Amino acid sequence: MSVNQQAHTGPPYGQPQPAYQGYQQPGYGGPPLPGVPQSQYGAYNGPVPGYQQPVPPQGYFPSLGFPSKGSPVSLNSDTSSLAPNFIGSLRGPPTSGAPPPTSGASLAAGHPGYSQFGQGDVQNGIPASAAQVHRPPAPQPFLPGSAPPASQPSAFQQYGVPLASAQQLSTHMAGMTIGSTSTPAPPPAGLGYGPPTSVPPVSGSFTATGSGLYTPYTSSQGPPPTSVSQGPPLAQPPFSGQPVSTQRLPSQVPGFAPPPSSTGIGPSSYPPATGAPRPSPMQGPPLPGQAVAGAPTSQPNHVSSPPPPSSMSGPHPGPPPMGGLHGPPPPTHPPQPGYQMQQNGSFGQARGPQPNYGGVFPGTPNYGSQPGPPPPPKRLDPDSIPSPQLNELPPQQKPRHRIDPDAIPSPIQVIEDDRSNRGSEPFVTGVRGQVPPLVTTNFLVKDQGNASPRYIRCTSYNIPCTSDMAKQSQVPLAAVIKPLATLPPEETLPYLVDHGESGPVRCNRCKAYMCPFMQFIEGGRRFQCCFCSCVTEVPPHYFQHLDHTGKRVDFYDRPELSLGSYEFLATVDYCKNNKFPSPPAFIFMIDVSYNAVKSGLVRLICEELKSLLDYLPREGNMEESAIRVGFVTYNKVLHFYNVKSSLAQPQMMVVSDVADMFVPLLDGFLVNVNESRTVIASLLDQIPEMFADTRETETVFAPVIQAGLEALKAAECAGKLFIFHTSLPIAEAPGKLKNRDDRKLINTDKEKTLFQPQTSFYNNLAKDCVAQGCCVDLFLFPNQYLDVATLGVVTYQTGGSIYKYAYFQLETDQDRFLNDLRRDVQKEVGFDAVMRVRTSTGIRATDFFGAFYMSNTTDVEMAGLDCDKTITVEFKHDDKLSEDNGALLQCALLYTSCAGQRRLRIHNLSLNCCTQLADLYRNCETDTLINYLAKYAYRGVLSSPVKTVRDALVNQCAQILACYRKNCASPSSAGQLILPECMKLLPVYLNCVLKSDVLQPGPEVTTDDRAYIRQLVTSMDVAETNVFFYPRLLPLTKADVDSDSLPAAIRNSEERLSKGDIYLLENGLNIFVWVGVNVQQGLIQNLFGVSSFSQISNTLSMLPILENPFSKKVRSIVDMLQVQRSRYMKLIILKQEDKLEMLFKHFLVEDKSLSGGASYVDFLCHMHKEIRQLLS
Ligand SMILES: [Zn+2]
Repeated sequence: MSVNQQAHTGPPYGQPQPAYQGYQQPGYGGPPLPGVPQSQYGAYNGPVPGYQQPVPPQGYFPSLGFPSKGSPVSLNSDTSSLAPNFIGSLRGPPTSGAPPPTSGASLAAGHPGYSQFGQGDVQNGIPASAAQVHRPPAPQPFLPGSAPPASQPSAFQQYGVPLASAQQLSTHMAGMTIGSTSTPAPPPAGLGYGPPTSVPPVSGSFTATGSGLYTPYTSSQGPPPTSVSQGPPLAQPPFSGQPVSTQRLPSQVPGFAPPPSSTGIGPSSYPPATGAPRPSPMQGPPLPGQAVAGAPTSQPNHVSSPPPPSSMSGPHPGPPPMGGLHGPPPPTHPPQPGYQMQQNGSFGQARGPQPNYGGVFPGTPNYGSQPGPPPPPKRLDPDSIPSPQLNELPPQQKPRHRIDPDAIPSPIQVIEDDRSNRGSEPFVTGVRGQVPPLVTTNFLVKDQGNASPRYIRCTSYNIPCTSDMAKQSQVPLAAVIKPLATLPPEETLPYLVDHGESGPVRCNRCKAYMCPFMQFIEGGRRFQCCFCSCVTEVPPHYFQHLDHTGKRVDFYDRPELSLGSYEFLATVDYCKNNKFPSPPAFIFMIDVSYNAVKSGLVRLICEELKSLLDYLPREGNMEESAIRVGFVTYNKVLHFYNVKSSLAQPQMMVVSDVADMFVPLLDGFLVNVNESRTVIASLLDQIPEMFADTRETETVFAPVIQAGLEALKAAECAGKLFIFHTSLPIAEAPGKLKNRDDRKLINTDKEKTLFQPQTSFYNNLAKDCVAQGCCVDLFLFPNQYLDVATLGVVTYQTGGSIYKYAYFQLETDQDRFLNDLRRDVQKEVGFDAVMRVRTSTGIRATDFFGAFYMSNTTDVEMAGLDCDKTITVEFKHDDKLSEDNGALLQCALLYTSCAGQRRLRIHNLSLNCCTQLADLYRNCETDTLINYLAKYAYRGVLSSPVKTVRDALVNQCAQILACYRKNCASPSSAGQLILPECMKLLPVYLNCVLKSDVLQPGPEVTTDDRAYIRQLVTSMDVAETNVFFYPRLLPLTKADVDSDSLPAAIRNSEERLSKGDIYLLENGLNIFVWVGVNVQQGLIQNLFGVSSFSQISNTLSMLPILENPFSKKVRSIVDMLQVQRSRYMKLIILKQEDKLEMLFKHFLVEDKSLSGGASYVDFLCHMHKEIRQLLS
């Protein structure tokens, strides 16, 4: 059975296109009536008029010394004549035809308001606070001998080797004449601009898809590292937080202790009935090899066996435990569902003021401020009887035993256990409702009918059958979807399937795409939809006989019948205006105001672009990128450049009427890089010279986006704007902003305004950009407040990315910026994207989080969607589910590839359904839950006081855990804290979210930082939120210089640090290297090239390159971490007891934070109290 029978016969794409009329086909999500113009594309149906040649607008002012409208100016080496102020003298005859400006009034309209805007914020250029640290300086020594073994595989460095079963699949597929299934070679991880790795061409229409893989750069690519110099200016506001003591822990508490095994209900003690994977009627017969391959990974609970003795049994460094057993149960015990806190009166603190909870829990019952069920009436059950010691004394006066930090659930232990239990086997997706390994575990994925967890992760893989059950548990049902995720080289990219001129085979009613869960009936002549049960005729060209089990005999030939993820080639029906799209364009728009020029930024960007333009994304085997490029510079006015290949020199055209933006040239603005190479190079050489003496400090911003948008409209293509911007746009122009930063609003009801845009202008502009497929990436270089919350609106709603480099300095920040820029330009991106998530009867998608725009309730629209962006989707019940049928999700993403090919990427996932709450709690994924909760909270700050948002988070999690305690745990004393095994990290991770800069800013965090972080987190995947909220802390001095592995991570607490060691902490945005005061001189010499601790510079931003094993090892670890993250992390080197150490301590998230955030131990006590309140 050949899959090539339906060769694609569609017309070529890329021809000039007339005016857009919007989508006119039923294609995506429309009714099943071929040929009937009809669309559900709200975003594209707006009245987008065709590009016309309107009368040039007013406002082009030759009198200002600029050339007449449309008149070109030759750029030559005479820089003085090229300065903007002199350009008028070079006025010449128009050469590019009448300027065809479009007016802003012609922008698409009709999008209803959309309330999601995003901003975000990062720790770029963290200003330091000089606050005094009132902590005892000497942490508990980290005993070398008690370190966990350092031999476990590093979490992210490799994806492991392909396993036999994965190879078998490839072999099998190849044997079925599907063409090559070879995976692309891994991109060289080495130096230089590696060209995008192309996927080997495959015969026929069945090919692996994906544009070039990103090839990581090393820092050697950029301009050579320069000597270290002054770091970013360090704001040093007086510290206003409370004095902190490391000894704030309760002192009378004997500690948390694992329960006796007889009281615990371990995962292994549950009957396997509902949780165990089993063939679903929807899934059809098991795949060959599935039973065998699936068996080892079929445990529904991802922590399913006792930890190996070597990883846990040793005494943990840190304070000696008092009265508690060490954390997880010893190997001889069966696994236990959670930890029980032994009660002796320490957990019943009154809600009155108490130092431990400082600003976090100001004393009112959290659920009181929250819509939700009132606390249930008191019942007479053992759990409701308060301990007699409670409330007898104010907590401050109660002598208490200290809780042993080693006895409370450890993120490090959970991560290590999952690695050792699940890291060695591939994750085979053939079984419904399987919980994947944690994001911190290296594992290979074998697609056997469900989408890889790299594409979709769920908060739970076993959904309550009824809405009542779901509400009772309060566990949110959500999927974090990364439709264009990058796969490790060992895994196969989604195959591209061509169903011919009639397009992909779909259900007649709900329009779901053909997938492995459709049931063929009547000898193969019809199929019944797995989502809506509607029966659809199989098109004649798609007919195939069934075998004796009812399965089509071409089952294995067709990815859409046997795999969880694949792509369809879209027909013209899926294209705007019934035309195949043109290849997209990239437009580089550079701020050339005084600050940008003075800092060297303009020159740096121009130098970089000269080489970077050769590495634009390209499709598979194409020799060169189809993407065209254009260039604009701006300050208060905009300068367009004609870089047509026939010109000897580039020409500049100035538009000074920014009130009604138009593009003064069509021909020659967007060009092919190869054809216009010399003209572009000349332009990039001249731009820094032209503006070298500028005194212009004011900038515009919205007109820059409008200019890019108009240029794409004129060229009738989608594309991306790369805007490099430095300041608050205060120049007179549309979208002009004022400085409205006001830290006094923090912790008031008006705090939310800091996250909201100050004008709706940018929301409307974003809507127009989405309609055109104009994605905006923003690189910000602020020296002061520039209102990220407002500037980021268009970026956020178009699916773009924001990067921020506060106090940009060439010496210290250029590597980071250039690496980010290179990756951003090269990474895989789809344009003009629309995503819809279909579900089987019983649940439906009700809410969405991410960087996108929605004009209706179902379609997520993104002008651009790159390989790093995730969309989080929440589901709600609208009917009952059945355990037999389970629940199905199908995510369909329609997009235009970087070569202009219209495609549909499909991801399918089948989940189990349960009638017992215990099954829900055994199949949850806490990392994904935290991802969802963080996004939910970060959206909440737009409309609610931050305190309300924090209280709601605490309340929801308390309800989740109380429901477990009440319904799933065996009866035990109310004084015991019992956590579900899969959620035992929920309290520690939740506390990290509550303490994050958005929800509880420290004095050093700026308003722009918070807006920036907020926007970043909203698009993060699960691995990114995991390390962002609970950073990875590695003892570098424990690293094995002879191995490739990373040293074993330790918990994020100052108590775990030894004065004699050097540590690395990373959170996806920053890397800190912390040096203890007692580190051996030899190590200091080897790593920093100086002879003593005191000689280590306070302003180091990179590690010197020294030829010794320790230096090489540390630098290789840093490089390895940089490659794993989607952004280049800022490296900050800190010395113990130095004032900058504050920055580092901010990320020791198990400790009490200077901004008032609770320590892990305190928060766990608080959660326990909340749970008991709910249960009583
Ligand atoms: Zn259907």
